[in-house]
Amino acid sequence: MEKIRRTKIADVFKAPKFGSTVDVKGWVRTIRGNKYVNFIHINDGSTVHNLQIVADVEKFGIDFFKPITTGACIHVVGTLVESQGKGQNAEIQADSIEVYGTADPETYPLQKKGHSLEFLREIAYLRPRTNTFGAVFRIRHHMAYAIHKYFNDNGFYYFHTPIITASDAEGAGSMFQATTLDLNNVPRTETGEVDYSKDFFGGATNLTVSGQLEGELGAMALGAIYTFGPTFRAENSNTPRHLAEFWMIEPEMAFYDIHDNMDLAEDFLKYLIRYALEYCKDDIEFLCEHFDKELLDRLNAVVANDFVRLTYTEGVEILEKSGQKFEYPVYWGADLQSEHERYLVENHFKRPVILTDYPKEIKSFYMKQNEDGKTVRGMDVLFPKIGEIIGGSEREADYDKLVQRTKELNMNTDPIWWYMETRRFGTAPHAGFGLGFERLILFITGMTNIRDVIPFPRTPNNAEF
Ligand code: ATP
Ligand code: MN
Repeated sequence: MEKIRRTKIADVFKAPKFGSTVDVKGWVRTIRGNKYVNFIHINDGSTVHNLQIVADVEKFGIDFFKPITTGACIHVVGTLVESQGKGQNAEIQADSIEVYGTADPETYPLQKKGHSLEFLREIAYLRPRTNTFGAVFRIRHHMAYAIHKYFNDNGFYYFHTPIITASDAEGAGSMFQATTLDLNNVPRTETGEVDYSKDFFGGATNLTVSGQLEGELGAMALGAIYTFGPTFRAENSNTPRHLAEFWMIEPEMAFYDIHDNMDLAEDFLKYLIRYALEYCKDDIEFLCEHFDKELLDRLNAVVANDFVRLTYTEGVEILEKSGQKFEYPVYWGADLQSEHERYLVENHFKRPVILTDYPKEIKSFYMKQNEDGKTVRGMDVLFPKIGEIIGGSEREADYDKLVQRTKELNMNTDPIWWYMETRRFGTAPHAGFGLGFERLILFITGMTNIRDVIPFPRTPNNAEF
């Protein structure tokens, strides 16, 4: 007999050739049956939909099915037939079944009943095998691809910025140190400080919190670049929106002002949502049905409406007049909390908001300073259910102003001398922003905890798997 190739289950459903022989492989989700026939539902990760295998009990013998339990992996060859029951269009009448691997029902943690997301986090090594996490991680993949496609189609270059960095300008204290020094026997200088000259790089280094500073160097040569890589923050914030290791997308563009930057951010986000609606339809529908009935409406609403643009000062006025009780007080100069951001988006405007021109005290040194001497050309994009999804700004292009700001902040600019220098060699207006990849995936999937949109989350006290 001619050897047939394995077909992915997604392709079985896409264009079923009834009457043909097909070869499928997958993990058993459920098995049930009676004296005459067993119905085995398998999934191979290519779609959220399970494929039903119909197996004659007499043909295989009752004992044959004993090792075929939830979690086992099987290989089936059989005839594709039109499905009688509701659900999928096609099922397989099994001719042969091979068991690749069993999964002892006594110890396999994923039984067919619905498990809580909290429980599934504890078995993150197996949760991709659930419908929910299969859907989330497929969407995650498609979004990563769409990000590269968007930038490539729009003339941006993928620019790789370093993971290990000697600059701690963005926020010492919230960084993870990278060292090969023996912590039980740390070399000291004469004055008793840690002697980093003995360390691997001949100086202190950390894991990056952002690729922006180096990204700007790329923009000032290639015109428009983006980074897409892991970033690390050791902030001890146990919230549903923060990870210690997360992925960030950071475009940087020469000759963009803050308005161009906002246009790009809005167009980019809408593109990604439209892409998800087109290419992740089944998975989004599954998540909508099981977790968040308003998910599809919310995604469609963001695509259909213009984002509201207003200044931080205007935003704070709205919040102050709202009469709303917030956990954190709101006043001009306060760093807005997620509850404030979400009030503006969900209650007041009922659409995404881009806030601009923040007080310089709550933003980074590199943001372009406004004439008023009080605010800077920062912009945060605020989304329903999430709050801040993007943070960005027009960058300060003026050397003297940049130097003066670092002095006001008592910053040591030695480790970023090269960043400062770019303002002396062919400086130009430029801008950029950072999109938190997991925050995007939260929005697209309707999941509510950031630990559930990355395969193996890193959070305080947890680096398992
Ligand atoms: P937040 O105020 O929410 O803590 P931030 O202002 O510190 O965020 P930025 O430095 O502006 O964040 O980073 C850019 C983007 O990266 C944010 O808009 C957000 O989408 C994402 N982000 C920041 N910190 C985290 C984190 N710890 N985990 C996941 N995503 C993050
Ligand atoms: Mn921010």
